[in-house]
Amino acid sequence: MKTEHRTRCVMDTTDPEIKFDENVTSKDYLNKSFKCPICRGHSETTINTYKHYWISCNDCGNVFRQRKTKYFIPRILPNFISNRIPTRIKRHFFPMKEVIEDESKFYDYYSDASSRGNAKGTKWEGQLNGIKERLGRCGVDLRGKKILDISGGPGFVVKELEGVAKRAVVTEFSQISVDGMKKNLGVEAVKFDYNKDKLHEVIKDKFDIVLINYSINFCLDLKAFVSSLRKVVHDGSVVMVSFVPPTLGCCLRWQHDEYTYNILYHPETVARVFAEGGFDLSCRDSDGSYYYMANRRFNFFLFTIPYRIVARRRHMNINRELIQKNMVYIFKVNEKSK
Ligand SMILES: [Zn+2]
Repeated sequence: MKTEHRTRCVMDTTDPEIKFDENVTSKDYLNKSFKCPICRGHSETTINTYKHYWISCNDCGNVFRQRKTKYFIPRILPNFISNRIPTRIKRHFFPMKEVIEDESKFYDYYSDASSRGNAKGTKWEGQLNGIKERLGRCGVDLRGKKILDISGGPGFVVKELEGVAKRAVVTEFSQISVDGMKKNLGVEAVKFDYNKDKLHEVIKDKFDIVLINYSINFCLDLKAFVSSLRKVVHDGSVVMVSFVPPTLGCCLRWQHDEYTYNILYHPETVARVFAEGGFDLSCRDSDGSYYYMANRRFNFFLFTIPYRIVARRRHMNINRELIQKNMVYIFKVNEKSK
C-alpha cells in the first residue's frame, strides 16, 4: 500500500532538536512518537480534512496544520475530465501549485484590493471603527500614537489612520501586495513574513500600539515572534491580538483552501507566551463566532460531511463545536520586562 507523505510538526520554541521534517511518511508517523513543539507532549489526535491534516496535541490543546501532498479528487478523476473543470472550481479541489511553491502568492490579491483606494463596500469597511471601539473600552486612544498594523493588508486601516495617528505602518506577507499598497494608497508598507523575518530587523521604530489581526495563527514560532515584538514597543505600549482558537468547525471550514492558519493556538498558550515575553493581559474579548459553513457554497458543505462524521465519532480533546471562534486579547507591555 502506497504511503501518503506527511510533514510533522514544524516549529520549536523550546527544544532545538525538534526540526521541520518534510519527508516523514504516515508509516513513520505511526512508528515515531509525536512530540509537541509547544509542550513537548507525546499524545496527539489527527483530524483528517480534504486538503489538510490537523494534529491536535492532547496535552496542551494546540492544533497544527499539515497540508496533504495528494488530494482525493485528482486521484480518482481521469485527466480528460480534470482538464475541463474551470479554474475557479478546480482551485478548491486540486493543488494550487503556485501557492504551494510560494505561499505569499495567496495574498497577492491585496494589491488589487488596495487599488479601490478605500474600504467602502468591501469586507474591510468599518474595521478601523471596530478597533477604535474595542481599544476605547480598554482605555486606549489611537490619536497621536505610533501604530504598527502587522499583516494589515490591503492597508485600509493604516490609510484611514492618516491624520489620526502620529505614524502608521502596515506589514504584509506578499511583496506584490506591499508594492501595491504603497502605490495605490500611498501608505508606509513593509514586507514581513512571520516565519522568515524577524520583526525588529524589518521595523526599526518603537510603536505605541501594535495591531495583530488574525495573523498570529500563521506564526510558527510564537515565542521568537513575541521576543522580537518586544523590541519594537516600549514600556506601556499596547498590543491587540485577535486569533482563532481550536474548534473542529475551523478545521473543516478551511479544508479547501491551499493555505490557511498554520496553528490554532489555545488561548492559554497565547496568554502564557505573551506573559513570558513581558506582556500583561489587560483585556480579553470575543470577536464573535460563526457557523463553520457560513458564506460557503452548498457543495463545500457536502464535502465536509464524511470528514465531519469521522471526526465527531473519534475521541478527541479538541472543541467539537461546528463554529469558528474569534478571540481578542489586549496586552500592555510590562514595565519591568526588558
Ligand atoms: Zn502540546
